[in-house]
Amino acid sequence: MLKVAHTICPSCSVGCGVNLIIKDQKAVGTYPYKRHPINQGKNCKKGRDSYQILNENRLKDPLLRKGGLEQVNWEYALETAASQLKSYENREIGIIASGDCTNEEYETLKKFATTLGVENIGYNAKNIPTFNFKTAPLDDVENSDFILIIGDILKENPLLGRRVILAKEGGAEIIAADYPEKTLTGINSDEYIQIESTSSFLDNINRNVLENPQQLSTVIISGLSGEEFENSLKFFQDSHVKLLPVMEECNSRGAMNLLPALSEDELKDLLEKVKILYVVGDDPASYMEESLKNIEFLITQNFLVNETVLMSDVVLPGSCWAEKTGSFTNTAGETQNFEKIVEPPGNAIDDVTIIRELAEKMGLEL
Ligand code: SF4
Repeated sequence: MLKVAHTICPSCSVGCGVNLIIKDQKAVGTYPYKRHPINQGKNCKKGRDSYQILNENRLKDPLLRKGGLEQVNWEYALETAASQLKSYENREIGIIASGDCTNEEYETLKKFATTLGVENIGYNAKNIPTFNFKTAPLDDVENSDFILIIGDILKENPLLGRRVILAKEGGAEIIAADYPEKTLTGINSDEYIQIESTSSFLDNINRNVLENPQQLSTVIISGLSGEEFENSLKFFQDSHVKLLPVMEECNSRGAMNLLPALSEDELKDLLEKVKILYVVGDDPASYMEESLKNIEFLITQNFLVNETVLMSDVVLPGSCWAEKTGSFTNTAGETQNFEKIVEPPGNAIDDVTIIRELAEKMGLEL
């Protein structure tokens, strides 16, 4: 029997609504969520394909390294992870998450770390530093008179790009600036500026264009990280423009509200300091495998098989977004709840339960 269920797209930080088509308890496709206010009845290709992650490369059972990784029961996997964590000093324990966990998972993980006295915790912020000013709501993009875009949003975040095109159709002036050859965003803009460095671009920008009090001006910053990102924020923060930084993953903004943002260098430092690591959602082996060699014991919680899983000592199979209830906070700071639609495969369970059960095995009260 076919069933259609509303959910939030996990494929980028715009936070579009998407309908999952379920056949015999399996996600087989998607359909745009017509009345959802963010995507206004549309989904991009990434969003339409989002159901595929529910069916690919899934972890179905807890695993324990005994020579190779072997299937074990939950009791044994959790007991092993808990007794290993208890055998290390708090300062020797590290916990890292990714930007696509739910807000409820970050909250539980934060409580877990606080109760245990672990300070080496954070999420992989993909080099976007924490900020805490009020960002532009998505509706402002469409209603703007002037939009400056740094980076390419039409390719990476098409439904945000669609709002820029709607603004243009309404008479807005669009200026796009980006590094390489003309991007999709550049093609659709009134003026395209190819930049060599963000700082020289900012030095030459005519602030008057942005300071016209008669107009609603929005600056969208995408694809910048580290110092470039911070300098761009500083440059525009004192002006009256509305700023919209575009985050990398579907819940990076939620992660930023709850956990320390770790840049790649900070992640490296953390991995050098700790001896036992608990990874939730992230895949550090894919970007710093060398640094993981110092880790004596590696615990990974994820819904899919990745490089870090294959290096782990204990693997705890979690759930993909549509298999659990929770919330994501999109790049504009809007938090949206979603409900469990399908069961996780095999013996996988939801991630908040895993963290709580691990805490219980360690004698911690969350
Ligand atoms: S723009 Fe982003 S959130 Fe919206 S459908 Fe596409 S991938 Fe999903």
